Amino acid sequence: MRPPRANALRDAWCGELGDEQVGQQARVAGWVHRRRDHGGLIFIDLRDRSGLLQLVFHPETDPELFALAERLRPEHVISATGELLRRDEANVNPEMATGTVELSVSGCEQLAASETPPFPIDEDGPVDEVTRLKYRWLDLRRAAMAEALERRSQVTTTMRQVLEERDFIEVETPVLTRSTPEGARDFLVPSRMAPGDWYALPQSPQLFKQLLMVAGFERYFQIARCFRDEDLRADRQPEFTQLDIEMSFVEEDDVIELSEAVMGEVFRNVGFELAPPPWERIPWDEAMLRYGSDRPDRRFGMEIVDVGPRLDGSEFKVFQSVLDSGGVVRALNAGPREMSRSELESLNEVVQRHGAKAVAPIVVGDGGWTGNLARFFTDSQVASVNEALGASDGDLLCFVADSAAVAPVAIGALRIDLAERFGLLEGAGHDACWVVDFPMFEAGDGGGLTALHHPFTAPLGDLDDPAALRSRAYDLTVDGVEIGGGSIRISTPEVQERVFEIIGLDAGEARERFGFLLDALRFGAPPHGGIAFGLDRIVALACGRESIRDVIAFPKTASGSDPLTGAPGPAEPQQLRDLGIRQAPPPDPKP
Ligand code: ASP
Repeated sequence: MRPPRANALRDAWCGELGDEQVGQQARVAGWVHRRRDHGGLIFIDLRDRSGLLQLVFHPETDPELFALAERLRPEHVISATGELLRRDEANVNPEMATGTVELSVSGCEQLAASETPPFPIDEDGPVDEVTRLKYRWLDLRRAAMAEALERRSQVTTTMRQVLEERDFIEVETPVLTRSTPEGARDFLVPSRMAPGDWYALPQSPQLFKQLLMVAGFERYFQIARCFRDEDLRADRQPEFTQLDIEMSFVEEDDVIELSEAVMGEVFRNVGFELAPPPWERIPWDEAMLRYGSDRPDRRFGMEIVDVGPRLDGSEFKVFQSVLDSGGVVRALNAGPREMSRSELESLNEVVQRHGAKAVAPIVVGDGGWTGNLARFFTDSQVASVNEALGASDGDLLCFVADSAAVAPVAIGALRIDLAERFGLLEGAGHDACWVVDFPMFEAGDGGGLTALHHPFTAPLGDLDDPAALRSRAYDLTVDGVEIGGGSIRISTPEVQERVFEIIGLDAGEARERFGFLLDALRFGAPPHGGIAFGLDRIVALACGRESIRDVIAFPKTASGSDPLTGAPGPAEPQQLRDLGIRQAPPPDPKP
């Protein structure tokens, strides 16, 4: 840290003082971290943002000063001055960055008092999360949280540096806008000036960044807040931050190369050990087959194999009827594992969460298969599957048979579950890879097609065969977490109109909602593409935190509320009247 400008409150940072300043006068300011009385002396560890410094109060210096020190309590705020002394060898504290020195206090002023904090600031013990969020200003004083936010700032600084070196400009886009579809529900804001009309909060700056390309900015970025009103899964926030990027006159390789430059530097800078880019690109089909996921976790093996063709014609009705009806049988080799009956049954629950019925487990023994299912298969089927799975005696093989949509995802989830159960992720190192060649559309809830990325992604293939279209999209995954995704965009109005039509927007609706984009595409839109990275996830990975809430200064709970401010809360009746809104009874809670 740069030394503070000297004033009446401080002229040095606690954490920066050391042997070099011994013998000098210093004035420091901060919070009482800990206080100890020892053999007539009072020791205070004083904390500011830079770290801790031990202060010593001697009773003989000045009785009034000593009396003040006796009254100080954790989290009181003080400014103290004195001479920096080297500690006796016996008192050196190697755990503390400033453990070789201490400030012998000759003057001290109390600047603020603190009530007793509801949880200790000076230790990192577990505290209930709602309490932490309610007293967030205290929680943020704790070393782990302070470190996370410093890291976050370091990450965004690196992003800006790399992008600025490459001539990107930062442009802000509106928060009060119209729907920008990314597949989630919009947050709506009622308009007072146009009663009955609503703004939507942006799910991403997608359309604005495309308009900036039409406007000729060529290289845009923004660290942008996005809003998606989704049922919060464990680690989602209703508002989150993206590093949003868009470029003109580019193809996939250009955006991927730029992304690798930015993210490679970010991870290198925070000491997150990834192989330097370029990172491998895996076609979506292959990711779904080998890992059962479009965000493959490649830190461990246990790859999935399509064993259906090897088992076709067996006596095992369960597999055969799935294969006969166009389904698939996928399997993985869990290695030499002994699992009890109840453990094996718990595997069923994992695949059931993804719509499959059960896991068929088989143990390899004497070159063949043991257990009830073995008799249904011929020796050559067994040998062929064993070979494909690299199975040897004692290995546990897990099979999932289901439709081509369900089985891959279910066994993919099983693969992750097994890796966690067997501790395969501990000390596994880190991995980054791209997933490319996505399908353009997937089946939506209502039976029609929806865009897998978003409907502004450029399709690849024959527009008259929508189900077979691929898209020019790419996602970046680190350790099984999708940290970014983007695409080359549609840059002609005809293609954009056709894609709207395929997802079931008729021309009138398309014009009403996205007329401005269609118009812009008629005024010389360059080929363009971009990507967005999830900042919260990236910082969580970089800091090794489980939850993104631990890298956001003021997050919401998993149910979308904020225990600190009480948001969301009721509106005043007058506010509702001004907005022309009458409150209906709340909808039934979901079952
Ligand atoms: N707007 C996309 C998203 O938020 C990212 C992109 O296509 O650039 O996921």
